[in-house]
Amino acid sequence: MKTPGITVMTIQTIDGGVEVNEVFFDDVRVPVANLVGEENKGWNYAKFLLGNERTNIARVGVSKERLRRIRELASIERLGDEPMIRNPRFREKLAAAEIELKALEMTQMRVIASERTREKGKPDPASSVLKIKGSEIQQMTTELLLDVVGPYALPYSPEEADGPHLSNEPPIGPDWAASVAPTYFNWRKVSIYGGSNEIQRNIIAKAILGL
Ligand SMILES: Cc1cc2nc3c(=O)[nH]c(=O)nc-3n(C[C@H](O)[C@H](O)[C@H](O)COP(=O)(O)OP(=O)(O)OC[C@H]3O[C@@H](n4cnc5c(N)ncnc54)[C@H](O)[C@@H]3O)c2cc1C
Repeated sequence: MKTPGITVMTIQTIDGGVEVNEVFFDDVRVPVANLVGEENKGWNYAKFLLGNERTNIARVGVSKERLRRIRELASIERLGDEPMIRNPRFREKLAAAEIELKALEMTQMRVIASERTREKGKPDPASSVLKIKGSEIQQMTTELLLDVVGPYALPYSPEEADGPHLSNEPPIGPDWAASVAPTYFNWRKVSIYGGSNEIQRNIIAKAILGL
């Protein structure tokens, strides 16, 4: 990153965060000593790494923990006279997310199991399936949390969103509420990064369905 010609420009995300950058390369010279693998095979190496990135984006563990938390909060937060968890429409959405996640977990295990029999270094196009479903489920969970928090998602308090009680003002609503809307907005990125979901569908059409 200290090589002359590399410029890093910050991009502010929709939730006000600063976690991504735009990187410019102007006549950057890379010494031969820094060559990774064989010359002119860069795209092959990149495709292998992208496959790993897509598998990683599935984030089954993160979604499991988030659904557990949603269940817990929905048992406390009320909608009318009842805890949110009793609401049939909410239960239906929660169950749908849990079923999708279980199916994703099994698919991920199948992809990992096929690793042993696949040609070494060859990407598995099934990682595109993991990326699409994993990102959709992550976004579903952020929507469910918005349902649970209800109108308390509306106040914008960046200090509270970074961690409860960083502000001198008392929190508006439950202390976990402030991060819900920023996370919802931030996680719109999941279906874009690592190759957008539309591009993953193109890969599935070409590499799996042979279209
Ligand atoms: C939060 C975040 C972090 C990121 N981190 C990194 C990083 O660490 N490293 C990195 O290299 N990149 C990173 N990216 C960039 C990311 O990989 C790209 O944004 C993504 O691949 C989409 O490319 P694009 O933005 O150029 O969109 P475009 O390619 O311009 O696409 C725009 C829209 O058109 C659709 N589209 C484009 N082509 C087709 C097609 N052939 N068929 C159907 N639909 C099409 C896309 O799906 C999308 O909806 C990050 C992006 C985000 C949002």
